[in-house]
Amino acid sequence: MNRVIGITSTIPSEVIYAAGYKLCDLNNLYIKSRLPMDYYEKAEIAGFPGTYCGWIKGLYSAALDNDIRTVIAVTEGDCSNTHALMELYTYENVNTIPFAYPFIHDREHISFEISSLMKRFNVVKVDLDIVREKFYKIRQLLHKFDENTYSESKISGKENHIWLISSSDFNGNPDKFYTNLKTRINEIDKKTSIYNDYIRLGYAGVPPIFTDFYETVENLGGHIVFNELQRQFAMPSYQKDIVSQYLDYTYPYSIFLRIEDIKTEIKKRKIKGLIHYVQSFCYRTLEDVILRKELNIPILTIEGDKPEKTGVRTRIRIEAFIEMLRKL
Ligand code: SF4
Repeated sequence: MNRVIGITSTIPSEVIYAAGYKLCDLNNLYIKSRLPMDYYEKAEIAGFPGTYCGWIKGLYSAALDNDIRTVIAVTEGDCSNTHALMELYTYENVNTIPFAYPFIHDREHISFEISSLMKRFNVVKVDLDIVREKFYKIRQLLHKFDENTYSESKISGKENHIWLISSSDFNGNPDKFYTNLKTRINEIDKKTSIYNDYIRLGYAGVPPIFTDFYETVENLGGHIVFNELQRQFAMPSYQKDIVSQYLDYTYPYSIFLRIEDIKTEIKKRKIKGLIHYVQSFCYRTLEDVILRKELNIPILTIEGDKPEKTGVRTRIRIEAFIEMLRKL
């Protein structure tokens, strides 16, 4: 088996690294590539319909283009399109391994899923614990970085997003990730605050497919101090045992767990408004209905489709939202 394993969403990465493999989050491979639109178009050339999620298109092309021969696909708790994507991978001779976050949110079920993954990769607890210990230190540093984002106004929303989102695979090299993050935190410690006059915003929903989203918000006077799901990918409950860690990870379970987390962070981070991003053709768009009813904060819902620049219409809406918040 090729030593690099692709993933379609965050999985218990500790298990895979303990087995001696490297992980590659296909979402990051796609969106961080020089020309993500090429991946998007390649999927359409292969026959994906225009009315299909842009993230799935990128996941498909990124795996094939980078010769990823094995993909762990999250079949429960992530995306309703994953089963069809797995069939397409199989058709293209990519091995697929399913991982499911249980619909029933309890210790017994998630414990079973993690144990099955360990068995599949011949990982024993003692090896898992060694990796978990190492990842514990990285996650600790990541959460310090995240806390600094809202407490010190020195870190941009984009940089917060990039570091947190990269925690799904630690860029394929956890040791290097740790060293680079440590260096970056030391550099930032020497900086002075930049964002004191900006409007403090939260971001909820799947990561934006727009290539310049964070720059756009910042240019319009907004400072994103909370990236909801990206923070979840970094595992806020990293202090606990592995089962609790993946049980407290809100993304794959119900919207209500996410709402509890969002409410807590809005208060803690003194956020004035929330941008809720929805992806065109994604079933999660419906969650916007509940979010708007449950959160007592101004919310702007924006929608993206392709990996391209934030369109003029969306830009104007963000500008009006920030101006409105400034007057409150
Ligand atoms: S945005 Fe929605 S449809 Fe697209 S990959 Fe994510 S969960 Fe699936």
